[in-house]
This record gives sequence, structure tokens and C-alpha cells, in this order.
Amino acid sequence: MASWNTLQQELEQLQMEGRYRPLTVWESGSGAWMTLNGRSVLQMSSNNYLGLTEHPGMKEAAIRAIEKYGVGSGSVRTITGTLDIHDQLEQELARFKGTEAALVFQSGFTANQGVLASLLGPDDVVISDELNHASIIDGIRLTKAQRKVFAHKDMDQLEAALKESAGFQKRIVVTDGVFSMDGDIAPLPTIVALAEKYDAFVYVDDAHASGVLGKNGKGSTDHFGLHGRVHIQIGTLSKAVGAVGGYVACDQVVKDYLIHKARPFLFSTSQTPAVAATCLSAIQVLGQSGDLIAKLWENAAYFRSKVQALGFDTGASETPIIPVIVGNPAKTMQFSDLLLQEGVYAQGIVYPTVAMDKGRVRFIVTAQHTREDLDFALHALHKAGKQILE
Ligand SMILES: *Cc1c(COP(=O)(O)O)cnc(C)c1O
Repeated sequence: MASWNTLQQELEQLQMEGRYRPLTVWESGSGAWMTLNGRSVLQMSSNNYLGLTEHPGMKEAAIRAIEKYGVGSGSVRTITGTLDIHDQLEQELARFKGTEAALVFQSGFTANQGVLASLLGPDDVVISDELNHASIIDGIRLTKAQRKVFAHKDMDQLEAALKESAGFQKRIVVTDGVFSMDGDIAPLPTIVALAEKYDAFVYVDDAHASGVLGKNGKGSTDHFGLHGRVHIQIGTLSKAVGAVGGYVACDQVVKDYLIHKARPFLFSTSQTPAVAATCLSAIQVLGQSGDLIAKLWENAAYFRSKVQALGFDTGASETPIIPVIVGNPAKTMQFSDLLLQEGVYAQGIVYPTVAMDKGRVRFIVTAQHTREDLDFALHALHKAGKQILE
């Protein structure tokens, strides 16, 4: 008799280690305050950095697109699934990013999978930061390329890997722009300089930098003034942009190649009209987002300094992602639960997403949080911290 016993056993093991997490079901849309079990809770874990999920103009654009095009696109991009709004979105994204071209995928996850799997062949080498996102790791796994991993942001190890890679056809250095668990920024200027020295391509995944870093949220390449020197920029439309989707900003030849090779692009239906129109509208919104982004960074600086003043360890954070490092998994989840009792939702993140002794409660500050909200969260942190860490 077929049985799921082994799955059950693994789940029980997770339960014993305090790592079993049922889904949290929310009764309202993404925002600073959200409804959970009929109760209003201060939410500090979304990627809705600019609060755009509720933007009136973007909602209007989505509704108009549904009325004009219907609810689905009806096909993959290569058949009848490229609507004019998909095409416009790519043109606007390329203009926004300052690249020749852009290609949109269903998500940031599939963008990484599709692009890495297409660009890397058996004669190539990929050199990747150890803390890169799961979608990068999976994208690399799909290829027959030689893999080299360097310790997080260790530029000596990166250089050593580049030196060893002279014999390969293509060398591609891959990094997150902003690392999602620690909220630190990749040393892109050094990565670019090393890549130029050893004739390699630079691939940056700006999921947490899109709409956050650089002028109007153009990302880490813009933040560091490296236009024209980063070959592949992955962005997401699912985080600060407020909808869902991913894209690559790149040279036209790369886009043309991906249209013929990238499997999630070829074999999965395109974004719905509402999503494409929402993203198109979001790019306009980002063009006038200076104040919102300034507020986001002001909130992040305030919250981080106050959390540190309370005696907590915020690790390497230098962005609106602000982890509070707790330690072992069970204690981390307990801390998160205590915060929720105080009315603050901040997600506990534990092994295997981070190292066993580096469990953390991850706060993500947004532009929607008011000073009162942040002070409310600080009070809860203080109270919960006293109970669990002393
Ligand atoms: C969230 C994230 C992704 C995935 O983006 P989605 O659009 O949510 O699929 C990819 N890379 C990094 C670094 C991320 O943080």
C-alpha cells in the first residue's frame, strides 16, 4: 500500500524542532495594519515597501485592463499571449532601467530559472555568492555549467574563482543586489571591477532592490553608478512594485535569445492583463516616487537605530530589511509568537533558510509605517525581548 508515512515523519521532526509553521491566513489586503483572526495587527514582514499594492491609480489601471482585455491572457507569450500592454511594459522597463531591452516573466523566481538555465551551458562557469536566493540556486542547478560558490561578499574568494576560470567559454558572476535574509547590499563596484579584469559577465538579482535602491528605485546598478557595466539585471514586479512578475533588463541580443530558449517564458502563460497593466502603471508611479522612497529609508534608519539601542543584534542590515538575530529555531519562533501577542507580526526565519544558530525575526519596514507604528513595534520588541532573552 502506498503511504505518505515518510512525509508524516519529517513533519513530526519539524514540529519537535519548533520549525513547523502552518500558513498564516490574513483577512485583509497587504498594508501596515492587517486583519488576523478578526484582530488588527501591525504587519512588519511584507515586501510591499512602498505600499503600492493599494495604489489607487494602479488599481484603476488593473480594472480598466480587465474590462478591455478580460481576466486572462489566454496563451503563452509566443502564441497569442503577447498583448500590447506586455510589449509596452517591456519597453518601459528597459527605459526605466536604462538598458537596450527587457523581458518579463511570470515571477522573479521563474526569471532567474529561465535566464540562468538559458545562458549557462556545459562550457561555462557560474560563480555565485553563498547567500544568493533559492531561485538563483535552482536556476544554476538546471544547468550543466561548472559551479563555484564564494563565501558571502568575500571578494578574495571571488577573485580566486575568477582566476581559476580562465579556460571556460563564459564566466558569469551572480549576486543578489540586496540580500533578503540580512538586508545587506552586495559590493557591486568591486564585483564589476573584478569581472572586468577577468573578462566575466555580471548578473545581479535586484528583487529587494527594485523600487528600493537607486534613483526612483532603479536598483543597485543605478545606486552604484554602474550603468553599462552590469550585463544582466533581474528585477521583480512582486515586491516594491506591488503586483507580481519578474523581468530581466539586458542587451537586445540576450532578450532575443531568451525568447527562444527560456523555458518558463516559452511554456507558461503570460501575465494576466490586469497584472501587466498594473506593472505598467507602477513604472509611472515609480517615476514620481522620490518622496515615498525617501520615507522608506528614513523609516528604516529610525527603526534600525532604535532596535539597536534596545540592545538587539540587527546583523549586517543596511536596508529596510532589519533582522533581529535571536539564535536557535525554537526560541526564534517563540519570540515571533510573543510579538504577535503584542500585536506585531514579524516573521521568524530559521534553519534551513538561515544557519541553525542564526534564527532571526525579520522586520521589513515600509514607507506606509508611521512613526507611531514604528514606536508601537519597538515597545513590543522591548517587552517580548525582556521575556525571552533575559
Ligand atoms: C523574492 C525574490 C525572488 C523571487 O521574486 P518573485 O517575483 O517573488 O518570484 C528572486 N530573487 C530574490 C533575491 C528575491 O528576494
